[in-house]
Amino acid sequence: MATTIFSEMSALAVEYDAINLGQGFPDTPGPQEVVDAAVAAMRRGLNQYPPAVGVPALREAICAHQRRFYGLELDPASQVVVCAGASEALSSALMALVAPGDEVIALEPFYDLYAATGALIGATLVPVRIAAPDYRLDAGALRAAVTERTKVILLNTPHNPTGAVLSRAELEDVAAVAVEHDLLVITDEVYEHLLFDDERHIPIATLPGMAERTVTVSSAGKTFSVTGWKIGWATGPAELVERVLNVKQWFSFASGTPLQHAVAVGLDLPDDRFAALGRDLQAKRDLLTDGLRELGMEVYHSKATYFVTADIAPLGETDSLAFCRSLPARVGVAAVPNQVFHASPEGVETQVRFACCKRDEVLADALLRLRKL
Ligand code: PMP
Ligand code: GLN
Repeated sequence: MATTIFSEMSALAVEYDAINLGQGFPDTPGPQEVVDAAVAAMRRGLNQYPPAVGVPALREAICAHQRRFYGLELDPASQVVVCAGASEALSSALMALVAPGDEVIALEPFYDLYAATGALIGATLVPVRIAAPDYRLDAGALRAAVTERTKVILLNTPHNPTGAVLSRAELEDVAAVAVEHDLLVITDEVYEHLLFDDERHIPIATLPGMAERTVTVSSAGKTFSVTGWKIGWATGPAELVERVLNVKQWFSFASGTPLQHAVAVGLDLPDDRFAALGRDLQAKRDLLTDGLRELGMEVYHSKATYFVTADIAPLGETDSLAFCRSLPARVGVAAVPNQVFHASPEGVETQVRFACCKRDEVLADALLRLRKL
């Protein structure tokens, strides 16, 4: 297996003391209540193995969250499983639901874990590209990607790395294809609360006919700025969640007891605290987008997530991978080349992802450094 781009670029950032706009992690603390709850849980002695399925308080909080924000009704006893991050939830779900030789349709560009896990299983990831500048999902292309071997459509909305947010119409197209071909859907919604402007996140599980065939994955990492905690979850119909748990128990078994209790507190925060997340990040998206444009890059509109994608061709650059490998040494900034999120780099050779989830002064410093280009 290749080394993940996040390890490669973060190592270069450390080596050259660069500002890390590569791997997406914030540099400000999350909600004080959540951190305090973790400390309190440790002090209360909640430090031993949790049940493999997750502590009851967190499973109940996840279900209450899905009801509050999306009107989804879930049974905390049978329809949710807590995992070591969205990562374990995704790899467990894929391993549980996909067999060697099966095909998984995924939006391209795709988060690198999808293709790697597909390779571990011996399944094939079939890309359906969403392309700059507007990243629309073409229903015809989706339909054309289905074969007899297709088992799962793997969605990601809000979408990493593009910042796209699937519209209701696009989700309806996905749902129609899934129902028509009797496919399962795994949907990665880790950026569900990090939306800009008037964007709305619609879980595909809320569409008619979809709850019974969808495994929804999310995580506390982005929402509460605790990416190192690795508390994630999968929800869905009891028979699918049981299969995810069945695999997951042989990976980590369980993890993070006090952190699970703290995330339960976080998921219970009032609405305005969730609404503030996107608002705060939106100003950073603007700062970074405007700054990169001033430097001459073409920057595509990001509707959500930690990320913006820029095209470096106007700077005379021809290869984003070489560019990102040299950037920390050249100017003291790290970024990620979008081509690693593609099955084939054709057409995206000069696209680079920059993370905007940093303090304003850090973004300003990074932009100043990038002026040296
Ligand atoms: N899916 C996407 C789209 C991501 O960007 C990430 C990483 N941050 C993950 C899954 C993994 O989430 P976690 O850190 O909770 O494992
Ligand atoms: N999801 C994060 C990103 O896209 C990285 C996670 C990781 O390091 N594996 O930047």
